[in-house]
Amino acid sequence: MREIDCDILVVGGGPAGLSAAYGAARALGSRGRVILVHRDRRFGFPVRTSGGSWAFHLKQLGIPDHLWHTLTGARFASPNEVAHTVLRPEDPAVSLDVTETYEYLAELARQSGATVLAGMRFVGCEAVGGFDVEQLGFDAWPEGGFVSDVRAVEGDEVLRVRSRLIVDASGSARAVSVPLGLQKRAVRYGVGAEFEVENLSEDQRLCLLLVGSKYCPAGYGWALPTKSGTVRVGVGVLQPDVKVRPGPLLDELMVSGWLERLGIRCGKVIERHVGVLPSERPNERCVFGPVVCVGDTAMQALPLIGEGIRYCIEAGREAGKACAAAALLVRDDRSEDASVEATKRLRGYERWWHATHGRAFDLTWRMNVRIARFTDDEWDRVTRVMQGLSPESVAKGLRGQVGALDLMRFALTRPGMAVEFGRSLLGV
Ligand SMILES: Cc1cc2nc3c(=O)[nH]c(=O)nc-3n(C[C@H](O)[C@H](O)[C@H](O)COP(=O)(O)OP(=O)(O)OC[C@H]3O[C@@H](n4cnc5c(N)ncnc54)[C@H](O)[C@@H]3O)c2cc1C
Repeated sequence: MREIDCDILVVGGGPAGLSAAYGAARALGSRGRVILVHRDRRFGFPVRTSGGSWAFHLKQLGIPDHLWHTLTGARFASPNEVAHTVLRPEDPAVSLDVTETYEYLAELARQSGATVLAGMRFVGCEAVGGFDVEQLGFDAWPEGGFVSDVRAVEGDEVLRVRSRLIVDASGSARAVSVPLGLQKRAVRYGVGAEFEVENLSEDQRLCLLLVGSKYCPAGYGWALPTKSGTVRVGVGVLQPDVKVRPGPLLDELMVSGWLERLGIRCGKVIERHVGVLPSERPNERCVFGPVVCVGDTAMQALPLIGEGIRYCIEAGREAGKACAAAALLVRDDRSEDASVEATKRLRGYERWWHATHGRAFDLTWRMNVRIARFTDDEWDRVTRVMQGLSPESVAKGLRGQVGALDLMRFALTRPGMAVEFGRSLLGV
């Protein structure tokens, strides 16, 4: 067994964990050490996400554009209606190359000085120093930090990692916060199945979003073309809202002929992907003393369509920076004052999250709950409304960025549609 000391242990190498490791190592520089452990042997493989995102935000985050494919058109199909949107070139939706993007994020973390270990699973941790884990929820810090067990997925290597802080970025596993009793396991999940197939479509930049019982009950289907000449066709369902599994629905969709009618021609299957995403009310808390949650562990994927990657990168970096500041405060000072001050720094990350994204997440959570019960008629009604919306409004709606002014403008310019839309969302 190898023993290693560090300031911050990051558990999970998805976009949230890799970005937290990057943010923390960059802020600490030579003053401290960050270790990330990731269960899979590679970053971003196997693929468990579809990679849809928005260029404007990725650019703000400095993600290079060779990692994505720009989409120019979107078709939104309900059982009896189709809305076509031309995506604005200045604000396009994109599909990321998931594996390349996560590898890029891992490289950023390494270059900033983090030790990044793939194929290593966090098994559990102990708080050291007469510390009662129950108190963690109230921001108590263990005097001696944490000692974590990490095991190689292949082979016998075992690491004991001593750290002052732990970042739980293990996605839906919540591998740190659930065993410590800080969070519960989610009960409601979006469960997705996806085929990556050759894209034989005429328009290689057209994506689809499919709703209603014809395509997918209590969830949605999608087709997302990639830069490598493939298209990811998937179906996601909300469990336990419905008892169906996405795999058989996807098989049906592939042979139904709907995709071709909507402009997507599929060739041979290249890969099969599956993934799960917690789908519950956004978290109030993501900081529990020296345990900081980020990404899916902290419900940081937008509830409307489960879009999380860019939020996870952004939140990961913020969480990493806050952890670095906190780690420096408690490094040589075990006093209560230092712990209180460090907690304040970490809480800054939590406040930043709520101030920056709280509103959009609350709004889209309420929409999620409502649309999960939509009938086919209601989906048709929404699709008819979408036929009349500008590309800008569609993009804003999908991102939960609709403000009071947008709603007023919509109501004034299209009163009939506004009433129809309001009735759909309110269920009257
Ligand atoms: C089917 C599906 C489609 C989606 N499509 C999109 C989309 O198009 N666009 C978008 O933006 N978002 C999408 N999402 C959401 C997005 O994938 C997530 O929000 C995002 O991946 C969360 O990142 P994360 O880093 O928090 O967690 P993850 O990406 O889940 O990474 C966590 C990692 O931690 C590792 N881990 C778990 N336990 C341990 C342990 N004990 N020790 C070490 N490592 C561990 C896991 O192997 C995992 O790789 C989709 C999700 C699903 C399920």
